[in-house]
Amino acid sequence: MTYRLRLPGPTTVPERVRNAMAQPVVNHRGPEFSAIVKEIETGLQNIMGTANPVLLFAASGTGVMEASLANTLGPGDKALFIANGQFADRFAAIAEGLGLQANLLDVPWGDAVDPKALSARLAEADYQAVIAIHNESSTGAVADLEAIGAIVRDTPALLIVDSVSGLGGIEMQQDRWGIDILVSASQKALMCPPGLGLVSVSEKAWKIIDVNAPRTRFYWDFRTARDNAVDGQTAFTPAVSLGFALCEALRMIDEEGLPNVLARHARLAAALQAGGTALGLPVFTRSPIRSNTVTVLQMPDGHDSGTIVRHLYEQYGTVIAGARNKLQGTVVRFGTMGYIDEADILLDLMYLERTLDALGLPVTPGAALAAAQESLRGS
Ligand SMILES: *Cc1c(COP(=O)(O)O)cnc(C)c1O
Repeated sequence: MTYRLRLPGPTTVPERVRNAMAQPVVNHRGPEFSAIVKEIETGLQNIMGTANPVLLFAASGTGVMEASLANTLGPGDKALFIANGQFADRFAAIAEGLGLQANLLDVPWGDAVDPKALSARLAEADYQAVIAIHNESSTGAVADLEAIGAIVRDTPALLIVDSVSGLGGIEMQQDRWGIDILVSASQKALMCPPGLGLVSVSEKAWKIIDVNAPRTRFYWDFRTARDNAVDGQTAFTPAVSLGFALCEALRMIDEEGLPNVLARHARLAAALQAGGTALGLPVFTRSPIRSNTVTVLQMPDGHDSGTIVRHLYEQYGTVIAGARNKLQGTVVRFGTMGYIDEADILLDLMYLERTLDALGLPVTPGAALAAAQESLRGS
């Protein structure tokens, strides 16, 4: 049975990227690797929509989330977290772990923040940072970062954004939208194994980072990372093999063309959502902007999504996610990002239909594939 990794991360790593990692490890301060670091920076700047230097850390996404706070906020500083899902909660928990004040702007899960509500909160108190999740992987809600950026830009606060599961699958315009710190990671739409954390920092944020206020970080210090990036280096030994992988993945994105990559994500997500809905599993997401990288489908009342996740894995080698939070049992989540094509979506739906049928849920045979194909034809 083929193992089908259909999670919202980590995602399938293409053969070209896997082969790139088989290259011999080279001197991380020599010319070969600094050329790789510089090529990665250029490729990521294009995808991030930024002219800022891009910093690489050996870390999962959570590491660079923590670093973004540790570099900018000190004791007593106040941060406002737009809290509409599991990853927003994690970001706030990191702040608490660092001894910062985490203030929440609560938004129902599945929804995105109303920019007016953000303006109102920012008028009530002074915050040093606003934290938003670009693509909330637990719910499929996408934040309107253009609107959020327009609000935060005119305040002293920094806008810190987690686009771990968005970058490379959903449009990002860091500089135009006024995002001060953008963090992401290698293992989602960027088609690499887990292990690289990616950061870019605006001029507004550097001004705060550079004042050398008492902040607790060493490995994560963005200043030393920036100073090393000038020479195509990292401050400490980088994950050399993952660097080769990311460089190759970025070449693949460049060859396909970023606009085509983003359009492919939109088409495939729409097709999977149409097919899921036709199977009686409506899309959970209520945000005006729905994710193109994570499809979250809602279970009918009284049915546990865990049995579907298990059946898909055991019978069809297809690995999807349920939820490990308050939505546990009520949703299934598919990744629609990275190295995927139409065939993946159609196979997902075929196996999902068989699974629902086997578990005794009512399905109209063929309806999901018809709906998906209709969606693909129209896009
Ligand atoms: C996957 C993900 C992360 C990072 O998780 P790690 O396991 O630390 O890599 C952060 N935010 C979002 C929205 C994610 O989807």
